[in-house]
Amino acid sequence: MNTTTRPDLLQAFDALLEPARFKDYGPNGLQVEGKRQVHRIVSGVTASRALIEAAIDAQADAVFVHHGLFWRGQDGCVTGWMKQRLALLLAHDINLFAYHLPLDAHPELGNNAQLGLQLGLTAGARFGEQNLGFLGGRSDGGSFASTCALAEHIESRLKRPVVQVGQAQAAIKNIAWCSGGAQGYFEAAIAAGADAFITGEISEPQAHYAREMGVAFIACGHHASERYGAPAVAAHVAAQFGLQHQFIDIDNPA
Ligand SMILES: [Zn+2]
Repeated sequence: MNTTTRPDLLQAFDALLEPARFKDYGPNGLQVEGKRQVHRIVSGVTASRALIEAAIDAQADAVFVHHGLFWRGQDGCVTGWMKQRLALLLAHDINLFAYHLPLDAHPELGNNAQLGLQLGLTAGARFGEQNLGFLGGRSDGGSFASTCALAEHIESRLKRPVVQVGQAQAAIKNIAWCSGGAQGYFEAAIAAGADAFITGEISEPQAHYAREMGVAFIACGHHASERYGAPAVAAHVAAQFGLQHQFIDIDNPA
């Protein structure tokens, strides 16, 4: 079985995702130090206890996620769920790598690029804060006849129901998307000329903006929209070193 070291793995993730380019809500990179030699990587969306337990069962030496353990606004105490997650990682000497915005942004392997791939969308431009939003359209050059047609397409690709609000005024050609909790990007998407905006979550104000601006808003689930970047990046880096990699999806309705 091939092996690499923790520092080499960190360097490979950093070289690919360039975390220094982003202003983020928590630390990107190695969040919890585990064993030095790595054979097996498990990737997942969130460093939840369920994922950590699954990684232990899979005999992972490293876990690679989008949502790590540490966020701005936490009280910094290792109690409750934090204690339980950390205790499991440390007891099994598992490395935890987490990349948040850098993983959303990567032009080929990131959450937005990979969500576009799943939905048959290609981006020609970026928009919004830190250029995280993707703007483009159907990879085949076509359009969607209505908000309902686009919503049904997304439901069939992501295999889950979506929330749709607002009716596009004509056929939907320009499509903007930003994975996760990016409802705050909606106004920037409208300003960038989108006929429809796809993200994970919706909040109260966006429903009104969608109705009043004639731009479709589709919320397809925070988790569902961010299932594709972590396995793409982890598989890419695992292949560089010949390591084993497995994506473990811990279902989340939110
Ligand atoms: Zn997220």
